[in-house]
Amino acid sequence: MITAEAVIDLNALRHNYARLKEISRCNRVIAVIKGDAYGHCAVEVAKALDIADTFAVSRIEEAMELRTAGIQQPILLLEGCFCREDLAVASELNFQTVIHDKTQLEDLVAIRLSQPIITWLKVDTGMHRLGVQPGDVSEYVERLSNSSNIKGEINFVSHFSCADDKESSVTQHQIDVFESVIADFPGAKSIANSAGILFWDLAHFDQVRAGIALYGISPDENSIGSEYGLKPVMTLQSKLISVREHGAGKPVGYGEIWKSSTPTKIGVVAMGYGDGYPRLAPSGTPIWVNGREVPIVGRVSMDMITVDLGLDSQDRVGDSVEFWGENLPIEKVANEVGTIPYELTIKLTKRVVKTYKAL
Ligand SMILES: *Cc1c(COP(=O)(O)O)cnc(C)c1O
Repeated sequence: MITAEAVIDLNALRHNYARLKEISRCNRVIAVIKGDAYGHCAVEVAKALDIADTFAVSRIEEAMELRTAGIQQPILLLEGCFCREDLAVASELNFQTVIHDKTQLEDLVAIRLSQPIITWLKVDTGMHRLGVQPGDVSEYVERLSNSSNIKGEINFVSHFSCADDKESSVTQHQIDVFESVIADFPGAKSIANSAGILFWDLAHFDQVRAGIALYGISPDENSIGSEYGLKPVMTLQSKLISVREHGAGKPVGYGEIWKSSTPTKIGVVAMGYGDGYPRLAPSGTPIWVNGREVPIVGRVSMDMITVDLGLDSQDRVGDSVEFWGENLPIEKVANEVGTIPYELTIKLTKRVVKTYKAL
């Protein structure tokens, strides 16, 4: 019997891609599938997204894995190539690269590539993590324009630091900086992540980069994906492996961190931090059992979680439980745990069986 299982709904995925395309109107939508598609399996996700314009990943190994699996769309390396050898691979396998600093610039103009590659110049509009300073953009463009390694126009990319905060003035400022720096250049422009797509109309430019929203999840902790017409792609579920009578005043699990105040029934579920469920999930974190939410009680173990089913509950061994997904928004679980949904989905371990709802 399969217990810990992540059901990946590929119809929901395709729906979300189409929905994001609709929201961002005429733009190309780059599907961000780094980190094994945020834990959803990059190859399966890419295969299901035959409608996607472009994919984006963070490491060249991720891009190579997609090519090996037969994925033919353009693939953007979000942080570019990290050395000259990677540039040669990128040229050969038709990856798009990013230039965010001097070292990358020097490598790209010095090397002789078999085929020129599509290149994005990353501008630091305020994140101050990667990117060239606005005042240096012209110089970079000039150096790159003179190189025979560049295919087409030089494109421009930047990244938001606070786009999930609708009240913050930082995002509009970043948009203004981006606009003023790139206004005179003909290449494609892209600054919006999921939060940019959903919350900042003026951030859409030519191409948008959809990560978390593609998986049906809101980038903002105060809302859930369905509010934007998105559908959850992953449902994490498992089974009850024991239901036990539990007396008042008795603790449960490691460290005795929780005691029942009344007689109740404790359900034991086959799921733990060994599956990637967060060990720091506090007592009270909800899971979904037979049509209702019940609280986790006691410490999350490697292989098991204990839940308070209630004295009158009828739940039985073998019943299905859901940790997040179709019935229980992952945004809510992440809030309870004190993290973000990105971290929850990406940290699932290989012990969790992935199954795919067919197209
Ligand atoms: C991860 C990433 C994205 C996608 O971000 P989401 O918040 O998941 O939409 C977009 N752009 C860059 C550069 C990234 O690294």
